[in-house]
Amino acid sequence: MSLLERNPQAPNAWLGDLPVTSRYTAGIAGEKFFRAMKDEGKILGTFCENCDITYIPGRIFCERCMAELDHWQDVGTIGEIYTFTLLFENLDGTQREEPLAVAFIRMGDGGLIHQLGEVDLEDISIGMPVEAVFKPKSKRQGSILDIQYFRPLTE
Ligand SMILES: [Zn+2]
Repeated sequence: MSLLERNPQAPNAWLGDLPVTSRYTAGIAGEKFFRAMKDEGKILGTFCENCDITYIPGRIFCERCMAELDHWQDVGTIGEIYTFTLLFENLDGTQREEPLAVAFIRMGDGGLIHQLGEVDLEDISIGMPVEAVFKPKSKRQGSILDIQYFRPLTE
């Protein structure tokens, strides 16, 4: 095909491999957040005094007033289910034997997306208090999966 025959509106495409030599990092705040989970089994947030907001996961600046945030605090391991869904398929499209419950766990003015465990699916509800269950320290790798799951808070 010559240049004159080519559709100028068509997207350009080149086939081949592109070497990637960089690594994604969690950043300054992510490093502190994940290291606390791995080493101490703690969930850390930061507090903005100007806006009266607790960011979870912690951040190093306030997205509202742009203040630098250096008041890191242990926010505990308890939150509540803000919303949830059930997954019936695996990533490869195959059917799961049991549905997987995934929820946004509201903590402070933020929260974490994670799976639920030790709960009957029909008992899951919006507003349900839940707590993080950490893996044993020797199994933690500095990722969100250092939390095994969130389970209903038992009183
Ligand atoms: Zn602020």
